[in-house]
Amino acid sequence: MAKLYFYYSSMNAGKSTALLQSSYNYRERGMHTLVMAPQFDDRYGVGRVTSRIGLEAAATTFSNVDNLFEIVSTCCAEDPLHCVLIDEAQFLTKEQVFQLGQVSDELDIPVLAYGIRTDFQGEPFEGSKYLLAWSDNLKELKAICHCGSKATMVIRLDENGNTVTQGSQVEIGGNDRYISMCRKHFKEKFYGEAEEKDAAADNSATAKRKTRAD
Ligand SMILES: [Zn+2]
Repeated sequence: MAKLYFYYSSMNAGKSTALLQSSYNYRERGMHTLVMAPQFDDRYGVGRVTSRIGLEAAATTFSNVDNLFEIVSTCCAEDPLHCVLIDEAQFLTKEQVFQLGQVSDELDIPVLAYGIRTDFQGEPFEGSKYLLAWSDNLKELKAICHCGSKATMVIRLDENGNTVTQGSQVEIGGNDRYISMCRKHFKEKFYGEAEEKDAAADNSATAKRKTRAD
């Protein structure tokens, strides 16, 4: 039976590179693959998967209401498919992860999904949560923190280099930057700077009260 694989990591571990290499390995043997990516991810132009080291390939895009089982079924009715590869799989919905399971179970096509495990607040992405729960095979791709440890978490920095602790999960096209860190350094940045802000807010509130009392 075909399997559903989830390759997870933080940012900059080489997920897209690994995806493109896997797709290439199938095609080199004369087999067909379907590379898919969420539609709103237009950082490099819709319909392409691009890796940091310069590899790229065309991708079939989908929105969060598309049925991935139906898309793959239609595609393999035209041409036999040997592997389905999903980029940015953290953005899948729960239903779409279920549909990927159907692709492997009912169409007998292996599915390789690649995604980020947690967001900038340390919360699991919906797609990753259900891929971690339902995949047959979990594989970690490793990114490295500045301290040399494995980076399992992601920090979001605003344009001034401050850690962002609030806001929407997905911020594409903004000036924010994302940096992978180990859990220890994530906690120092995320909670440390939040505490500093709270403390600063408390101090100014105390100062105001004091001024009023005076
Ligand atoms: Zn670290």
